[in-house]
Amino acid sequence: MGERAGVVLKSNGRLKALMAAYFADLAEAEGRNDRPVAWCTSVGPAELLRAMGFAVFFPENHGAMLGATRMAAQTMPQAHALGYSPDICSYLTSDIGAFASGVTPLTNAFGMAHVPRPSVLVYNTNQCREVKDWFSWYGRTLDVPVLGIQSPGEMDEVLPEMIRDVSMQLQRIARDLAPLAPRSLTTTALEATMALSSDASAGWSRCLKTAARRPTPWTFFDHTIHMAPIVVLRGTQEAVEYYRGLSAELESLSSPGGGAVPRERFRIYWDGMPIWGQLRRMSELFSASRAAVVASTYCNSWVFPALDARDPWESMARAYLSIFICRSEAFKQDYIVRTAREFGARGILFHDAKTCPHNTNSRFGMPRRIREAECLPVLVIEGDLNDPRCFSYEESRVRLEVFLEQMEEGQT
Ligand code: SF4
Repeated sequence: MGERAGVVLKSNGRLKALMAAYFADLAEAEGRNDRPVAWCTSVGPAELLRAMGFAVFFPENHGAMLGATRMAAQTMPQAHALGYSPDICSYLTSDIGAFASGVTPLTNAFGMAHVPRPSVLVYNTNQCREVKDWFSWYGRTLDVPVLGIQSPGEMDEVLPEMIRDVSMQLQRIARDLAPLAPRSLTTTALEATMALSSDASAGWSRCLKTAARRPTPWTFFDHTIHMAPIVVLRGTQEAVEYYRGLSAELESLSSPGGGAVPRERFRIYWDGMPIWGQLRRMSELFSASRAAVVASTYCNSWVFPALDARDPWESMARAYLSIFICRSEAFKQDYIVRTAREFGARGILFHDAKTCPHNTNSRFGMPRRIREAECLPVLVIEGDLNDPRCFSYEESRVRLEVFLEQMEEGQT
């Protein structure tokens, strides 16, 4: 019947090569005055840094690699010993701990001895305050400048005065970067980078939207792998081309009967972060249960419809203020329900990530409100992005079983 036992995309090979080239470029750039390395938060102003000629490294991507390779369990205690609580962001503690221990998953994956040393660190607090503390530790340890954008949070609406404020902060950062940058910022370069970023975002969105088909050609567990270029290569031609190829492949896969989950029966929306060290196991568990996770808050968070090369400063401000994580509870609830319906998901899973309150939306009554108002089955799984002590596979498996029974009742 043409069933596939899980998705095996041809694009996997291209992704590997693309990431290898990205890290090789960073390793080559390190220490070069004509192409210094800047570190940037995952929803920070990557476009600005690229337009000014920096090679850009993303510590959160490194944090996710530490989680996926399960090195985090060994590295976090080093950060705890430095006074960083086990209760705070396990990306931060995994990453600082790895640096303090002198290890990195980049060695095995890409042959790099260490993470590329930065000339400057740039953050945006749109996602959380933790990134400021995280980058400040490196700023003190490596004696490099730390520049930041302070963004408002909990917004119902993104108001014009907020956009103006962040736009002015972005322009201030550009001025502060000027003495460190290999080239002056020009409007032409910024517009070109913004156009590439916007195209890559549109391509990523097209790829995600293919999961609205029945059966879905891929699932959340694939999305978390293929999102890497939209995180680390925004503003490059490589990212645009990667998503062009991936969306073409996904379109070609969407034939009836040939979905990513054999005999797909349940369609689920995932809110919250991935559990990086359990991706394969969770993917297999869901697949064996005929459950497809078709959409997620997390992977959708790197779709930036507001980016517009014709209005670079204000549109960059609007795009990075409009992201889900800095919106109000009411906005988030509406977004989750709307997106779940758009993808044909009939149940919503909330991952309560113990060390990331910002990407956890199950703590202020939202699951119950959705269950009551929308008559949708809801499941809360306790876990974490990187800290294995917070997650029990067995407990999650049992909860998932009960959840699928509820969905079954709702479907029959
Ligand atoms: S959003 Fe959460 S996981 Fe990401 S850096 Fe902030 S605290 Fe860490």
